[in-house]
Amino acid sequence: MTNWKVAIATATAFLGAQAVTTNYTSSTDPTKIEVPDIPQTTSYDVNAECQYYDSPFAAYDKASWPTTWEIATSNNMNTSKEFTDLYNSIDWTKVPNIQPRKLDANGGLDMTTYNVPQDTDCWWSASGCMTPKAEGINADIYECPEPETLGLTFDDGPNCSHNAFYDFLLEKKQKASMFYIGSNVLAWPYGALRGVKDGHHIAGHTWSHQLMTTLTNKEVLAELYYTTKAIKYVTGLTPLYWRPAQGDLDDRVRWIATQLNLTAILWNIDTDDWAAGTVPGITAQTVDQNYKNFIEMGKNGTFANSGALILSHEINNQTMDFAMQHYDALHDAYDHVIDVATCMNISNPYVEQSITFPTFEQYAKEGAGSATGSGVSPAGTDGADSGAFSVHSLTNGPLFIAALFAVLVFA
Ligand SMILES: [Zn+2]
Repeated sequence: MTNWKVAIATATAFLGAQAVTTNYTSSTDPTKIEVPDIPQTTSYDVNAECQYYDSPFAAYDKASWPTTWEIATSNNMNTSKEFTDLYNSIDWTKVPNIQPRKLDANGGLDMTTYNVPQDTDCWWSASGCMTPKAEGINADIYECPEPETLGLTFDDGPNCSHNAFYDFLLEKKQKASMFYIGSNVLAWPYGALRGVKDGHHIAGHTWSHQLMTTLTNKEVLAELYYTTKAIKYVTGLTPLYWRPAQGDLDDRVRWIATQLNLTAILWNIDTDDWAAGTVPGITAQTVDQNYKNFIEMGKNGTFANSGALILSHEINNQTMDFAMQHYDALHDAYDHVIDVATCMNISNPYVEQSITFPTFEQYAKEGAGSATGSGVSPAGTDGADSGAFSVHSLTNGPLFIAALFAVLVFA
C-alpha cells in the first residue's frame, strides 16, 4: 500500500491572505468554454495559426490596461484609480526591506554586492532558496511530493502556434500546468481558452516577463495583478499560482505575491529547451540529452523518495517538439506524469470553485480526467527560465523573450 503524502498546498494558498482591493471581471463561464472553429485555432500551419484575429476580448478598454510587453505600470497604470486603490489596500509597512536588484553590463542580475552564503533575502537566483526567511509569505512549490511522479509544466504561453502540441496532449489525455504571460493572454485569447477547455492547470507568468527582483514594489504588484486580471478576463478563472520569469524571486517579491494570494511554483529539473540554438553552448542536442537524463532519473531511483517538477516551454515550436518527442519515454519512466495542481493535491488552484482538480489519490485511482468543470484534470513548466545555477550565463532573458513575441503581438 502506498502512503499518500499529506498535501499542504491547499491551505498555503491562503496563508497571509489579505483583503486587497481588486477589480477582476469576466463574462466567461470557465465550465462552458467554446473556442471558435477558425484557422487560428485549428491549423497546424504557423502562419495561419498566428494570424491576428478579432474576438470579443479585443474590445477591452485599452486605457485601463498596461501596454502589452511593457512593464505593467505602463500606460499610466501606476497612477490609475484601480491600481492606486489596490496599492493602498496593502499594508506596505510589512514588506521586507529589500532593494530592487540591478542588472550588470550583460543584462544579467548583478550579484556582486550580495552575500550569497548568508542569503538573507532568500533570493532564488543567487542561492536556489525556496523557503522564505521573512514571515507571512507563501513558500514556493518546487517538486511533486509523491515518489516517481513527474509534474509537467510549460511556460510562456499561450503561444499562437500551439495547436499541434495541445492536440498531442489531448490525444495522450495528458494534463499539464501552463504558465501564461498576461500580454500573451490578451493577444491570443482563444489559445488561453483552449488551455482551460482542455483541462490544463493555468497559472500566471507575469505581464511582460521581467526579472521580478529588479522591479520596484509597484512594478512587481502591477506585473502580478494585471496578469491575473488578464487570465480572469479571458478565461473566467483567477489563478492562485504563478511562476516568475527565470525563477527570479526573493522575499520581497514573494511577499507582494502573497498579498494577491499568489504562490510561486518553481521546478527541480530544467530542460533548457528555450535556449537551444540561442544561447552559446546550448544546442538541440543539449536539450535532447537533458530530456534523456530526466528519463533516466525516472528509472534509476533519483526520485524514489519525492518527485520531479520539470521546466519546459511552449515558447516556440522547437520547444514544443522536444516535449512531444520525449513524451512517451518520460511517461514510461515515471509512475505518474501529471499537472502540478494534481501532484500537490491542490483541488482549487483558482479562486473560482467551479473548476476543481483531483487529489493525487483520486488521480491515481481514477486516472486523469476526473477534474470537474469544463475539462478534465491537468499537470505543467515555464519559458526562458533557466536552472537554479545557470541563470548568470543566460543574459537578457526577458528581452529575448519579449523580442520573440513582439512580432506576434497586435498593436
Ligand atoms: Zn518564461
